[in-house]
Amino acid sequence: MTSGIRFENVSVAYGRSVVLDSLDLTVEPGEVMALLGPSGSGKTTALRAVAGFVQPVSGRVFIGDRDVTGLPPHRRGIGMVVQQYALFPHMRVEENVAFGLRAQKAPKRGIPARVAEALEMTGMAAYARRYPRELSGGQQQRVAIARALAIRPGVLLLDEPLSALDAQLRSGMLAELARLHRELPDVSILYVTHDQVEALTLADRIAVMDRARLRDCGTPQELYRRPRTEFTASFVGNANLLPVTVGSGSVSFAGADLKVPTAEVPPGASATLCVRPHLIGLGDGPNALRGTIAEIQWRGSTHRLYVDVDGHRLKADVRELRETPALGAEVTVHFAPEDAVLLAAGVSDA
Ligand code: ADP
Repeated sequence: MTSGIRFENVSVAYGRSVVLDSLDLTVEPGEVMALLGPSGSGKTTALRAVAGFVQPVSGRVFIGDRDVTGLPPHRRGIGMVVQQYALFPHMRVEENVAFGLRAQKAPKRGIPARVAEALEMTGMAAYARRYPRELSGGQQQRVAIARALAIRPGVLLLDEPLSALDAQLRSGMLAELARLHRELPDVSILYVTHDQVEALTLADRIAVMDRARLRDCGTPQELYRRPRTEFTASFVGNANLLPVTVGSGSVSFAGADLKVPTAEVPPGASATLCVRPHLIGLGDGPNALRGTIAEIQWRGSTHRLYVDVDGHRLKADVRELRETPALGAEVTVHFAPEDAVLLAAGVSDA
């Protein structure tokens, strides 16, 4: 089944508190959309509105062409996986996986084959007769995914599915999810996470949420290279955010004139200049700034230098260091004009 998801001006409130504010968002058929944002920003609420576990106070939710706003959860054709697996402890793996099919009143004869297919797909075929307590956390989560896939949903909702797993398992499962997505190219996936690595790795597009609202939406590359807001710049990847005053073709920062693309911001305005730490080099070059070394951290493949420039602390991730500068040493750092993004003040809504 091919079906995207569409939020049309969807708002959700608990009492007087609006926790999802006028969300407009489309997940294309077969697309993985990450909802990324800090805790409490409304991500899970958006997902639950698709699942049918919360009722919007206004707006409509579509799955494919179908307006599902008033439909009960089991009639929406969705699979859902949450952080805490939520397997039934007294049921064997195969019974857990069959559960959704039974609830949907799928023809009985077809159920074993569908269960076997879902377990095969998640690498859990050998564990069909076990109980959840006989499985590791990662295996339990695979079963939860198998259970969601067994109904052959057009839409898969994943709510922080990896956050209960330890770091190593998490990266393995991330690769597994990417593989599953390749095997199920028609299934739209809405993936709630506060972890930017998960979003950047898995998503075709990322919707950035903050305080009940959608702030930005784009491919991982767009959001990383050309963030539209300070919030996105700091939440998707690491960023230096420098307060600047805009001139024509340049900005002034800490008494220096920096050449950067200024087309989108009028001269005289205050704005923020975003430069990614790995795009700042040590030594002389275009857009040079003098500063002192405040801290150095060795991170294996790079050194993270913290450089104080006129009271602002810049982060620079430097790959090759011929000699490590001393703390307090005066240094010059620089960045290429095209590597900076100028963000107008007050752009906060998508
Ligand atoms: P996120 O998934 O981004 O962490 P949520 O969508 O879970 O955020 O929550 C958004 C806001 O809604 C939070 O402030 C949360 O406390 C509130 N909230 C969530 N569920 C309920 C509920 N059942 N009753 C009251 N407030 C809730």
